[in-house]
Amino acid sequence: TVLASETRTVVSPGRIELGAGAVEALGGHAARYGDTALVVATEQIFEFHGDAVTDGLEAAGVDPVVYTDVRPDPTVENIEYAYALYDREDCDMIVTLGGGSSIDTGKGVGILATNEGSIRDFGVDRAGYEGVPNSTPPLIAVNTTAGTGSEATRSVVVSDESTSTKFLIVSANVVPDVAIEDPVLTQSLPKSHTAFTGIDALTHAIEAYVSVKSYSVPDGYAEEAMERIARSLPVAWANGDNLDARADVMVGQLQAGQAFTNASVALVHGLARPLGAQLHIPHGLANGLILPYVVDFSAMAAPEKYAEVARILDAADTDDSTRQAADAAADGVLDLCADLNLTGYLDDFGEVPAREAYLDVVDEMTQDAIDSGSPDNNPRK
Ligand code: NAD
Repeated sequence: TVLASETRTVVSPGRIELGAGAVEALGGHAARYGDTALVVATEQIFEFHGDAVTDGLEAAGVDPVVYTDVRPDPTVENIEYAYALYDREDCDMIVTLGGGSSIDTGKGVGILATNEGSIRDFGVDRAGYEGVPNSTPPLIAVNTTAGTGSEATRSVVVSDESTSTKFLIVSANVVPDVAIEDPVLTQSLPKSHTAFTGIDALTHAIEAYVSVKSYSVPDGYAEEAMERIARSLPVAWANGDNLDARADVMVGQLQAGQAFTNASVALVHGLARPLGAQLHIPHGLANGLILPYVVDFSAMAAPEKYAEVARILDAADTDDSTRQAADAAADGVLDLCADLNLTGYLDDFGEVPAREAYLDVVDEMTQDAIDSGSPDNNPRK
């Protein structure tokens, strides 16, 4: 139910192209915006799908100018270098190819193209929310993970290597003009990143749903996102070629992005941020490691919402009492994470140091989590 008192600005990408083969719509959209496009990608994703993007642009009469140095968890330098190329080649638009790292780099380039200052000046701690004053150039996000939902959000996450922190920029001005969600592009995602990015999306949906900033519109997105991810992520993980499962997860992560950008994320994201910045644990894995415990901690503060989470995750029956069902939500999340062998992947990150090596930064990481602002949105403080 939408209440008349729910006065909010709801953001959404200008257009969304969905389904197998959706990437073929790229050229037509790009031609509406000019004749030169900066294409932003990681080297790896460009090897997989770069031709689909550059061929599509060229066929529509648009020259691609390619930047493929984006690092996962993109840096201030990534954005500055990509912007220098955008400026030097007199580009008219930005096309991102990849997941959150490529999309956020593209959003950062857009900010520098029409606003004065360094990218650090736009972080929420300095510029606040709605921190980007001017409209940014056209941005087309060709999404290849499922995922961050960044193609639908007003957020940009940037790693600052000078401080080993990640900072957040928030503005309706960075929401992409076109989001392209082609599940065929996600078939090349390895099992590990299928799990990480899918759990990231589930975290977005759950956190938006239980957030103190939740309301009916994002709640609708969040409920459907949880349903799609719960039923199809294990299938896509077990068989990456299953296009229907890939498509279901891709729509689910889009809806999860639409949910959190119009409500908020909460405690899990606050805690995951320093794990990414200090220990370089992939964002989705960091979220997945924390999510079950935060759900367990928080369920008592929003029992009706968590009971619904548990029912969607098949961890509670409809005749369970609300409190009983809410308590089962954490089990539902743990079971899903176990199905994806999530903790098993931690061993793959050799750079995660032994406990002793990061004890001295725990205070710093705790402060970083609090400073992110996300814990304030959690139902239980
Ligand atoms: P990513 O973009 O960092 O990609 C992860 C790795 O997977 C990279 O090595 C990439 O090359 C590879 N990859 C991507 N797609 C692939 C494919 N289809 N096939 C094979 N390899 C592929 O991953 P992500 O999880 O989408 O993005 C994470 C970043 O997004 C983090 O910096 C995170 O903080 C940020 N984020 C942003 C928002 C937002 O709203 N702006 C929301 C959540 C997270």
